[in-house]
Amino acid sequence: MSIRFANVDGRAALVDPDGGWHDLERLTAGDLGPDPTSATRAGTDALRAAAALLEGSTADGPLEGAVLGAPVPEPRSCFAIGLNYGSHAAESGMEVPSVPVVFTKFPSCLVGPHDDVVLAATAADYEVELVVVVGRTARDVPVEQAWDHVLGLTVGQDISDRALQFAAQPPHCDLGKSRDTYGPTGPVVVSPDLLDDPDDLELWCEVDGERRQHDRTSSLIVDVPHLVAYLSSILTLHPGDLVFTGTPDGVGAASQQFLRPGDVVTSHVEGIGTMRNTCVA
Ligand code: ZN
Repeated sequence: MSIRFANVDGRAALVDPDGGWHDLERLTAGDLGPDPTSATRAGTDALRAAAALLEGSTADGPLEGAVLGAPVPEPRSCFAIGLNYGSHAAESGMEVPSVPVVFTKFPSCLVGPHDDVVLAATAADYEVELVVVVGRTARDVPVEQAWDHVLGLTVGQDISDRALQFAAQPPHCDLGKSRDTYGPTGPVVVSPDLLDDPDDLELWCEVDGERRQHDRTSSLIVDVPHLVAYLSSILTLHPGDLVFTGTPDGVGAASQQFLRPGDVVTSHVEGIGTMRNTCVA
């Protein structure tokens, strides 16, 4: 059973193939929801069972135009991967790493797909990314079983304060990428079976309509299955955990075009959807 999961105005919801959202607590007669984080922690099997109820349910409204929050507002862990596209490593003047470069976006930075990004004074940058949402407890998962541990995929912006990121040596990416509102995610979480090839998705980012980033996730140096396998070889991944998988080239730091108040950042991943976030002072 396929899953499209959303946070509609603070409540967990499933989305039907026609684009209607169904309140999860109502749909499951109170078994799941209303809290979106709790619903994702219930994991893939529980949400698949709920999705089976969609056929007999009348939508609460269209997803288009709904007020959407971060699909998983409070994951236990929110990982991010640095330098995971060769093009971005090159524009950053860095070697392609031999093991994944992993840092944390602290969950307090997460906001929804249409929320404002409140810019700090200096060097705010955009990074469109595919984001993995874990669906099953994962420990020592082999690569070939990794996709089965993924609830779904969503779009993310790894907004980065470059001045803060590089204020310390070695750089502290955790803080530089975790200012409040620096983690837009959404609009929905889409289960991998709904995608023609979940390992090859077009993604792009525009700033005020100008295309700055454009690539495919098949360009990832460490792909989703290998990231899940690698992380789960070290620690336990829990349902609802997020993994930002890295960004392709075209970031503002490379061209010295940083975000300014009033800029609209549009972020898209094929088969999942589009986020539009306005930068404010
Ligand atoms: Zn990033």
